[in-house]
Amino acid sequence: MRKPFIAANWKMHKNVAESVDFVKQIKDKLPNEKDMEVGIAAQAFSLPSMVQAAGQSGLKIIAQNAAAEYSGPYTGEISLRGLHDAGVSYVMLGHIERRRLFGETNEDVHKKVQLALQRGVTPIICTDETMVQQEVNGEIHYVFHQLMTVLHGISLDQVKQIVVSYEPSWAVGAGQHANPTLAEEGCRLIRRTIADYYSFEIADKIRILYGGSVNPNNISAIMAKPNIDGVLIGRASLDVDNFLRMIDAAK
Ligand code: PGA
Repeated sequence: MRKPFIAANWKMHKNVAESVDFVKQIKDKLPNEKDMEVGIAAQAFSLPSMVQAAGQSGLKIIAQNAAAEYSGPYTGEISLRGLHDAGVSYVMLGHIERRRLFGETNEDVHKKVQLALQRGVTPIICTDETMVQQEVNGEIHYVFHQLMTVLHGISLDQVKQIVVSYEPSWAVGAGQHANPTLAEEGCRLIRRTIADYYSFEIADKIRILYGGSVNPNNISAIMAKPNIDGVLIGRASLDVDNFLRMIDAAK
């Protein structure tokens, strides 16, 4: 059984005080960590205070990015060493906004994933796909190429730990409605891709999240799909009540 994972992606919203206040408001209302994982991806400067505020609640604090190098002359970068020391559990790597706005390539994401695995911060590997590519070229090849480039050389032992998220560009921040059928199809193909490359046993264990326009009205339909193990929620996660409603609906 794959444990459901509900994660907020706050992007470049909320300062430290707002982030800590949010954590304090939700931490005693979370489901048992054994049944469901809940996490929040926030801006780097808020992470240590959020880890502290979360205490023993089981809430996972997630970084939105990290550098591909462990330390050194990389002005402005966020090190995995610092994230690990701060008690951060997961790091999102290769989010579509990182790829689209900051030119991150599959090779960059690959290096970051490898380092995160070595340094004990679990990567949430984000893969995206546009509607056009899906219709013109066929989904299988694109998902295969992007994910496989990122996973190339990652060992069987390491790959078991990863989380993958499928966030098609037509749905992320688009104000469009998420389409549970297309979301399931993307996640199913990602699972099949992992099965082809590793094995069915491995693919069956890896959690695949869907992200893009998830909200309190559509989360139940999305979570009901067999290949979707959780969600990454952007805009709709910024409000405490909305976020709690969605956790409840996902149970
Ligand atoms: P959205 O963003 O829910 O606002 O579409 C999702 C994401 O970028 O993770």
